[in-house]
Amino acid sequence: MDLFDLKGKAALVTGGNGGIGLGMAQGLARAGAKVAIAGRDAQKNAAALKQLGAGAIAIVADVTNERACRGMVDEAARKLGRLDILVNNAGINIRKRPEEYQLDEWHRVLESNLTSAFVASQAAYPHLQRAGSGKIVNIGSMMSLFGASFVAPYGASKGGIVQLTRALACAWAKDRIQVNAVLPGWIDTALTRRAREEVAGLHERVLARTPAARWGAPEDLAGIAVFLCSAASDFVTGTAIPVDGGYAVQG
Ligand code: NDP
Repeated sequence: MDLFDLKGKAALVTGGNGGIGLGMAQGLARAGAKVAIAGRDAQKNAAALKQLGAGAIAIVADVTNERACRGMVDEAARKLGRLDILVNNAGINIRKRPEEYQLDEWHRVLESNLTSAFVASQAAYPHLQRAGSGKIVNIGSMMSLFGASFVAPYGASKGGIVQLTRALACAWAKDRIQVNAVLPGWIDTALTRRAREEVAGLHERVLARTPAARWGAPEDLAGIAVFLCSAASDFVTGTAIPVDGGYAVQG
């Protein structure tokens, strides 16, 4: 038996139309899973599908809208015929000093990054139960571990992701559902390209602190996705695993 084989499994990756989500979706597809990606932008969805091979589907959905988020999960299960894997990856950031945020910006970040993961997981639960087992992977951040002056809502959302992961892991372990978080280091995506423009010196600071001496690429997240979504991780639950080139352990 191939511990990493995902043939016969169906996966939904939110925010799977670009960046880290697409890197993970590609890993899952390569391991044999049928993959659904979801994002707000239909054009980005269509472009990403070309990189996922035959059988992948795309769903247009805004995960901050509760009905749309639940509908997205049900649509993925219906169109793929089952649902075994949910990757809660969709996320945004708004960078400011704490005293400068409007409350609606706080809510937007929390709803995009944290509430959406709770709602999608809740919606996925009956499908995973029906499948007899399941995997949920939530995407945290180095900001799940560290502070920074320009990430008050983002850091709160990513700290919350780790605690949500632990709570769901405890609740659903008996259903043979494993729930884990991945904490990416600094990965080169649309999100961080903007950060590099907005935060002076960020690029150099990341290079200096990362033992691997490079930014990560979305493909660097494919392996952890396959591990956490396959039988290889059936006794791994409630963890938060950095994929960061050593960033978190550099003193
Ligand atoms: P991108 O901006 O490249 O991707 C974000 C994805 O989320 C897009 O596909 C976007 O699609 C989707 N998305 C955003 N908001 C919504 C929404 N309301 N509804 C549905 N989809 C949404 O960023 P990354 O790939 O860098 O980020 C992916 C995740 O990884 C995020 O959770 C981020 O916080 C996290 N992360 C990233 C790090 C990095 O260094 N890049 C480091 C640590 C964590 P669309 O626009 O079509 O809606």
